[in-house]
Parts: sequence; structure tokens; C-alpha cells
Amino acid sequence: MAYEALYTRGRPKTLSQLIGQEHISNALARAISNGKISHAYLLVGTRGTGKTSTARLLAKAMNCDKVHEAQESGRPLEKKEIPCNKCDACKNFDSSPDNVEFDAASNRSVEDVQRLLSTAYLAPLRARVKTFIIDEVHMLSFEAVNSILKLIEEPPPNVAFFLATTEIIKVPMTIRSRCQVLNFRLIPQTTIAPYLLKLAKRLNVTLQEDAAKKIARLAEGSMRDALTYLDQCYAMADKEITLSNVDETLGLISDESLDEIISAVKAKDRAAVGRAITRAFSSGLAANAIAESLITRLRDIEFEMLDAGEKNFSDLDKMIDALRKSVSEMYGSGIPDIILEMTLMKLAAPVQNFAAAPAFVPTSAPSENLDAGRKIFYDVAKSLSAEDKFLGATFDQAVVKNFSGDVLTVAFKSDGMARMFEMSRQRFEERAAQVVGREIKISVAVDESLPPPVFNKMSETDRSNLAHAMKTFKASDVTKIND
Ligand SMILES: [Zn+2]
Repeated sequence: MAYEALYTRGRPKTLSQLIGQEHISNALARAISNGKISHAYLLVGTRGTGKTSTARLLAKAMNCDKVHEAQESGRPLEKKEIPCNKCDACKNFDSSPDNVEFDAASNRSVEDVQRLLSTAYLAPLRARVKTFIIDEVHMLSFEAVNSILKLIEEPPPNVAFFLATTEIIKVPMTIRSRCQVLNFRLIPQTTIAPYLLKLAKRLNVTLQEDAAKKIARLAEGSMRDALTYLDQCYAMADKEITLSNVDETLGLISDESLDEIISAVKAKDRAAVGRAITRAFSSGLAANAIAESLITRLRDIEFEMLDAGEKNFSDLDKMIDALRKSVSEMYGSGIPDIILEMTLMKLAAPVQNFAAAPAFVPTSAPSENLDAGRKIFYDVAKSLSAEDKFLGATFDQAVVKNFSGDVLTVAFKSDGMARMFEMSRQRFEERAAQVVGREIKISVAVDESLPPPVFNKMSETDRSNLAHAMKTFKASDVTKIND
């Protein structure tokens, strides 16, 4: 016997089996019981949330003998009876010529769609109601939309339309306003995981709870995706699906490997970070997949900490921010592995608390510290000036005042100059980190006691650059240049 995908087998057979959309199934059950069914529904929601399944259930229910009997006798129907799945109409539904289904996203020709829609004017062959289920309705051609519009404005007798879309804003208002709109929600992980466990039990497959949770998380609200993932794992596993089966089958990095990287970063142990990331790469995973998994894992850890009453996540948040930035840098880059490595290395760099850095520090540092600071400043300034003359002119006016605890204090005589330097401070710090190999913070101070800038030592180009810069920033001592 051919293997039937779980997605097909897991499809709801009655409204009571519609998972995660109780607000819709309840409302529909009431409407059907009261005989208040609309002839046009617009089913809106993300992929895999049950739109097409619901459309099929409704189409089937409109033709179900038992549903009709109940409606005629005024007996309220339960969700599990909608539809009955036992009467002839229900049994023949799947092969019924009176139920027309198509996907507007597939490459059907305009003529094809028009021909299918034109059959709406013909009486149903066997069924009570002729039903049209159209997926991705926002992809229909202009002509097709107009035909549908005409059909729902003046519906032929015994015809019902189920229009499904993932993008409501692309559906013309004229259609939206004439349909009963059903909004499908993303299905929470806490609903998907227990459902998977139940389904696995029915199939006599042992599915471990953490494996079910992982699949539910990956599905991101889509039951179809969850079932597809489960299917893939089921095909590869041997009677039992474990967390590592899920990781292996779906090509994921294990939580242990992720935790290894995270702990190494937290411990500021760069050697360990290097080893952990090399191991992750050697399993054949792409850098962006690793970075994204790290972000998800960090988020999970935050939630666990939150549950445990923890409040301080600044370390984790910093990691998430840096990784998110690195993921966007990776797109279109030829060196994604290096970007990830550098991001993690930077995160693992020893950090100081700079919050209390004073605005002005007189020269009191031991001279060897000051020399080291001057050397760093000189090296960075040289490297940046080579790229940007404008910056170079500012650096010439700086005096290194102090260097301690990886904070380099740079003073300027004028406030304007200090502000100008402040604007490129981040760039300076980034370059410093590259040059020195660790994080260096720059503190900018104003020291009016400094001797006036010696402009005559400057080259002609630097002078004109500085003059331009000072004018732009309205620095007070700009006149001195013109002397
Ligand atoms: Zn039936």
C-alpha cells in the first residue's frame, strides 16, 4: 500500500477536528445549525492554518444529508456531526463533479479559469450545492476577479464560493465586502505539540515530547508544516522519533551544540568559541542557519529564565542583537562563515563597564599606559585618515589624556572639535577593536587649558579640510585658521 502522508491523514474530517481555530468552528457550527450559511466565504490566514480544510468541510456540510435532516427538524448540530461523513453525499464528495477546486497561484490560463467559473451557471449534477474552492484568490487575473464578483453579487441558485487567501490586502475591496470573512489564526505551539503526540499515538509511533515540541516550534503556527516535518521524521526514524532524529532529519543544529557556543561566549572564552563554531560548521550547516538557530535558542533561554523569575537578560539581548545584525550582513556576502565567527569572537571579547567614565580626566595615568594609549590612537587615526581626510583633520587636534581599563580618553581644546570627533567615535572604536584585537572605548573630553591648535604644522589640504569641517560645525575658533 502506498504511504499516505500525515498531512492528508491528519486533515480534519469534522469541524470538531479543526485544530486551533475554535472561534471559526464554533461560529460555523452555529450558522449551519441555524441554516444561516453564506454563499460566499473569504478565508484569510497564513499558510497551513486550515483554510482549505475548512472550506472542504463547509462544502461537504452544505451537501450532507444528515446536516439537512437536522436543519429541517430544527435539531442543533454538534461540531463532530458536521459533516456526517457517512451519507452518500459525504462519501461521494471527493470525486464529486459539483465541487470545483483550484489554486489561482498555479499557472492556469485565464481561459481555463473562466471556463471553470462559467460552470457556476449550470445546475449541479448530483449535489445540492455546487461549490467552488479557490486557493490564493489574490493571484487571480483581473478578468477572473470580475467574473467572481459578478457571481457573488448575483449568485446563481445553489452555488457557494470559498475564496482562500494568505494576503487579504491584495484582495479587491469589492470582493471582501461581499463575502463572509473568516480570519484564521496562527496555531500556538502549545496546541500543535499535543496534537502531534496524539496523532503519533494513533499511528503507533513513539514520539518523544521534546521532539514534538521542537517540531511545533519550527512549524511557526502552521499545522501543515508541523505535519510535513513529522512526516519527514517518521519516514527516517525507526518506530521512535527522538529530538536528535528531528535535528538530523530536518538538518538542524542540536541544542547541545548551540548551548556549547553560548556558554563559551558567556564565559568570554574565545578558544572555546572557536572550537564550538568549528564543530558546528563541520556538520555541514550554513552560517546563517547556525546564527538563526542561536537566536531562537537564546530566545528560548530567555523565556526559561523569565519563567524562573529572572529579570536581567542584557547579556542575552546583546547576543541576539549582534547575531541578528550578522544575519543581515550575511545575505549577499561571500564570507558568511567569517561574519558569524567574528560576531561571536567580538561578543566573547572582555568587556568593561564604561558607564562611569568621567567627562574629563587630567593626565594622571602612568606614562607607560599613556604611551600605549597614544600608540593605539596614532595607529587607528593613521588607518582612518588614509580613508577619510576629513576625519584626519580632527584627529590632528586630539590630545590623548588617559588610557586605563581599555578606555582611551581623548581631549580637545574646543567644544566644536570634541563634538565633531564624537560623531565618528563609533567608527573609531570599531577600527580600534580591529587594530588592537579587543574592545576599546573612547571617552571624549574638552580641555580648555590645552594650547591652541598649531595649524601651521598642517598640510595645506588638511588645513582646508579642517576649515571646512569647522565651518560646518560652527566651531568657535575657526577664525584662527584664516590668520
Ligand atoms: Zn453526510
